[in-house]
Amino acid sequence: MNEEAGGRPCPRCSRQLYHRHCKYVCPDHGVVYDCADTFYYD
Ligand SMILES: [Zn+2]
Repeated sequence: MNEEAGGRPCPRCSRQLYHRHCKYVCPDHGVVYDCADTFYYD
């Protein structure tokens, strides 16, 4: 498993996000946060 729970909910649907490489991914919406985004925090 290269995916792990990101510990934060999707802002759109509140589902658990997955932290994949440098992105947070929602199972429904795809990438929600990216490390290149200014609002990204770890
Ligand atoms: Zn979502």
